[in-house]
Amino acid sequence: MNQRQDTGALYGQYVAKMQKIADLRYAGAVLEWDQETYLPTRGAEIRARQLATLASQAHEMFTAPAMGALLEELDGHQELGGPERANVARSLEDYRSQSKYPAAFVEELSMATSESYHAWMEARKKNDFRVFSPALSVMVALKRRQAELLGYREHPYDALVDEYEKGMTVAQLDVLFGEVRASLKGLLDEILAKPSPDDNMLHGHYDRDRQWELGISLLKAMGFDFQAGRQDISEHPFTTNFNARDVRLTTRIAEGNLSDMTWSCIHEGGHGLYEQGLPFDQYGLPLGEAASLAIHESQSRLWENNVGRGRAFWMRHYPGLQDRFPRLKDTGIEAFYHAINKVSPSLIRTEADEVTYHFHVMIRYELEKKLLTGDLEVSGLADAWNELYHTYLGVTVPDDKSGVLQDVHWSHGSFGYFPTYSLGSFYAAQFYAAATREIPDLAGRIAGGDLASLLEWLREHIHRYGRAYYPGALCERVTGEPLNFRYFMDYVRDKYGAIYGF
Ligand code: ZN
Repeated sequence: MNQRQDTGALYGQYVAKMQKIADLRYAGAVLEWDQETYLPTRGAEIRARQLATLASQAHEMFTAPAMGALLEELDGHQELGGPERANVARSLEDYRSQSKYPAAFVEELSMATSESYHAWMEARKKNDFRVFSPALSVMVALKRRQAELLGYREHPYDALVDEYEKGMTVAQLDVLFGEVRASLKGLLDEILAKPSPDDNMLHGHYDRDRQWELGISLLKAMGFDFQAGRQDISEHPFTTNFNARDVRLTTRIAEGNLSDMTWSCIHEGGHGLYEQGLPFDQYGLPLGEAASLAIHESQSRLWENNVGRGRAFWMRHYPGLQDRFPRLKDTGIEAFYHAINKVSPSLIRTEADEVTYHFHVMIRYELEKKLLTGDLEVSGLADAWNELYHTYLGVTVPDDKSGVLQDVHWSHGSFGYFPTYSLGSFYAAQFYAAATREIPDLAGRIAGGDLASLLEWLREHIHRYGRAYYPGALCERVTGEPLNFRYFMDYVRDKYGAIYGF
């Protein structure tokens, strides 16, 4: 066999293995999706076991020494083409990072995670952080060990954040959140010094079926392909996919609140468009997957905020909204636009507006970094939390449930995850600025109902590359420079300056 055939055959073996692993993973994803949407209560027990079996089979196949040997061998084949090289390089990175965990550590972490999740649920029920505190201390100790196992250059947190966002470091995050603390805080103070828009019209009775139809029509307008996806109802909205031609969105509807469904639907739709835009022929391979969590979140937030809370979008869609909900007939588009962009410091991250949101994330980032280094003890976490909420958002946390117990992440051991939410918004602003430079009269197109030009641009510059580039490198390719907070700051300053009049 000559070298070229040899490489082709080996690459074929790699693809076949990866796609088998993907079959298991996505079969698990179908079961998980079903668990969140249709599973009857009594089915939960066996479902958990079915999911665990599929996950451990997939993990075993991927971390098998034969897989490692195949990847190492292929990595040395210089004649692999660009996309093939990128697939092998990403898979090898994944393999090396997963192989750093001794089996005993994986088991300990998985036990601790399920205990800490239950402790968190119990603590929420009792509205008492002290119930969660011992389990969280165990989790923090495990996360320190995980950072040591993975290795890092400067800060143990670097190792953990890198698991979610390749290449991101504390050094970079400190700069970004330093900007949140300084420039964004300045803007927030300016906003809060002005009278607040009236958003009463968004509350009141909004019929469930009509809201559902609105959601579907907005998704269609965005270009979501219902031949390659669907939407269902779940308690917490999410997006998942089983391949690029089967993308599942979920939403929830509160009849007393129009905003909840509308913008979470657009948000999940943004995630869904990204997944439908990933290369179908790269099924099971890194190039068929999203670039990173933050890039994924950049797509949802670009549609939710830059587009979906923009004036141009509603110039097209507001008349239809008024027809659907005649109670809005007396509200002009300007009043509506101001209402949907009301800024108001609050206690709960998931309900925050696009300005105050990043203080919620910054607070969690500072706290988890300190927990990891030991500068903060778990026993002091609730007090530290409450103090930071008072300092940055001026709100008083009345109890643990609306404070330190509100997010599931720490109980799952997801340390280093929160920053990806803010990074998503910052990337979104920078991408949107690039799209505005490159697509002639983007705002005019959106106001005229043309969202396809924007979607095509995102497909061309972001979606089609999958995981070919690290998020930082992808950003440079798309926008000509590394992630730069200035774009987000310019966006919010222009927008809110006009709304609030300064
Ligand atoms: Zn999201």
